[in-house]
Amino acid sequence: MFSQYDQIIFHIDVNSAFLSWSAIRELKQGSDRDLRTIPSIVGGDIKTRHGVVLAKSIQAKKYGIKTGEPVMTALKKCPTLVSVPPDHHYYREMSRQLMEFLTGICPVIEQVSVDECYLDYTPIRTRYPSPEEAARIIREGVYKQFGYTVNVGISDRKVLAKMASDFEKPDKTHTLYQHEIQEKMWPLPVGELYMCGRSAAKKLNAMGIDTIGDLALADSTLIEAHLKKHGMLLQRYARGEDRSKVKPQRDRAKGIGHSTTLSSDVRNREEAYQVLKKLAGKVADRLKKQHFKAGNVCTEIKYASFQSVSHQCMLDSETASADRILQTAMKLFDELWSGEPVRLLGIRATRLIEDSQPTQMSFADYEQIMPEIRKTLEEKREREKQEKEEKEKREREKQEKEEKEKRERERQEKERKKPEREKQDKENRKKKLEAAMNSINSKYGDGAIRKGLSEKLS
Ligand SMILES: [Mg+2]
Repeated sequence: MFSQYDQIIFHIDVNSAFLSWSAIRELKQGSDRDLRTIPSIVGGDIKTRHGVVLAKSIQAKKYGIKTGEPVMTALKKCPTLVSVPPDHHYYREMSRQLMEFLTGICPVIEQVSVDECYLDYTPIRTRYPSPEEAARIIREGVYKQFGYTVNVGISDRKVLAKMASDFEKPDKTHTLYQHEIQEKMWPLPVGELYMCGRSAAKKLNAMGIDTIGDLALADSTLIEAHLKKHGMLLQRYARGEDRSKVKPQRDRAKGIGHSTTLSSDVRNREEAYQVLKKLAGKVADRLKKQHFKAGNVCTEIKYASFQSVSHQCMLDSETASADRILQTAMKLFDELWSGEPVRLLGIRATRLIEDSQPTQMSFADYEQIMPEIRKTLEEKREREKQEKEEKEKREREKQEKEEKEKRERERQEKERKKPEREKQDKENRKKKLEAAMNSINSKYGDGAIRKGLSEKLS
């Protein structure tokens, strides 16, 4: 069976990578729980109820918890769910160790994500009785060395090896050779096909295409009409067509370059810039296609005299942007060019990293987002100013209201005491008058003042 294919490819995938790696670290640190054996996730903080599920244990999967769903909904499905935060720095180290281990088995390895790689089995085929036996040795070796499990998919095509590693998990080997696709892959829902996202699956379902087999056998013109180029790619995958090779790491070291021999010698800077612009576009396209970013740019000039010179420059952050590659290439050209007629121009991008890897923010990026930051800050300052003014206004109004109420209370009190005060005044006046009358009467005899007068006054 093996001899009928001229190449054999393994796809190796760590089972629940983030969760397995976090579990192993906990155990190494003396924890008595194994995250892999309980309902657990790697994700956002359960206490603050933020974030999404990045990885889940098999136990958590039984509760219907899915990767990518909010931690909050996962917690509703399983209230005893244990969540640990991710540690990407540690995961990268685990990834590096795994790749180093696998490279010891076979040097032709293409890492495609932090926990996945393709391995070209073809050059080591004579060392093992069969691909399945080699896969078993790899799985056991990884488990013995690191304590976690991997799935291995085996095929003569990269895409099929990838599909095979995704079959039953964990710690399994599956084959999916071209002659097996009808039996093993075609009955699967079309959404399970590699690169078939939710929206593509929805469109295909609407066309009556439910399984991968339906897609493989569908009319190509119809697929192209509805899903364009991506649809054609999916149909090729459904048919098991994939000509791509395992691209080992050393290709990455060489970088990606383009050069062009000019039909007539370039004699001025503007013409050279035009050529560099085309080359930078091509380099950027290839970087993006292969999911790389470059950390270094090199410009090469060959003069009409056949003398060659080159100059390179490290970027302050990795990029796949045609514009940034061009800006660097032009700067290098200016530094290099002697003014002689140019026969050939070239640009090479090196120090490649996976485009999923985080980059440091460059000054260019920083400048680009600076206006945004400034705007946000200004808005924040304006908002705070407004809030302060409103607060002061509210306090002023409160104070005024309190004073007004106080005055009103005093007025009411005064009002309440008014009849009493008046009565008191009257009494006092009456007493004074009687005293005066008494004094007059005692001086001039009783009756000097008619009593009636005092009665009238009362
Ligand atoms: Mg994985």
